[in-house]
Amino acid sequence: MPARPPRPRTRKVSVTVESAARTAPAAVIVAIDGPSGTGKSSTSKAVAAKLGLSYLDTGAQYRAITWWMITNEIDTDDPAAIATAAAKPVIVSGTDPGAPTITVDGLDAAGPIRTQEVTAKVSAVSAVPEVRALITQLQRDIAAAAPAGIVVEGRDIGTTVLPDADLKVFLTASPEARAARRSGELKGVDVATTREALLKRDAADSGRKTSPLAKADDAVEVDTTELTLDQVIECVVTLIEEKRAAK
Ligand code: C5P
Repeated sequence: MPARPPRPRTRKVSVTVESAARTAPAAVIVAIDGPSGTGKSSTSKAVAAKLGLSYLDTGAQYRAITWWMITNEIDTDDPAAIATAAAKPVIVSGTDPGAPTITVDGLDAAGPIRTQEVTAKVSAVSAVPEVRALITQLQRDIAAAAPAGIVVEGRDIGTTVLPDADLKVFLTASPEARAARRSGELKGVDVATTREALLKRDAADSGRKTSPLAKADDAVEVDTTELTLDQVIECVVTLIEEKRAAK
């Protein structure tokens, strides 16, 4: 008896891929940058959840490496010591916008990275080029692996980490509005003290040599001073939908 011809498997696969491409929207990469207290985290998480995208808090990663340096008694005023140790901690970010996580060497770091000590030292650690190179690569790998796309928030996402992002948003707000929002989050810290610390951190982040806090030329600037959180979310969702429609 003659042998049966092989079944045309490749054809079946190509039909499946084509129909998936027709129904699923293309992955979208969104960069949201800006100084502290402009609403980046709340906006980014809500937008990602609404659109079924992953979410990455890059500030949490810089805070995580800073926490590791403090815990391991590395002098955070010594860039050479920081550079030598930079590759040692293993930082893992969970990108579910409903429950983002961050671990360092397997330990849950979500609480410890929000202390005032970490906040005071993070700008010095994140200014070290070796730290930035490692964390930037980590961020690019996470963004590339996000199945439906991702909202990445930080300071240099649109300019350096993901310069080809589909949408870049730069959030701003008056120093007063930002300080009031942050001091509301940090219960017990008054607005004036918060404002001073915030401006000091912004100056360090904007003034560093390697990938400073900056607006990308092609970013859409949104001043959130007079907007509610819901209005900012709505604005960013509309911008993303416009980009998706044009893809
Ligand atoms: O966003 P958050 O306030 O948690 O960021 C903490 C710090 O991490 C910033 O002040 C900055 O020094 C650093 N950072 C950075 N680049 C990013 C995100 C955060 O240098 N993309």
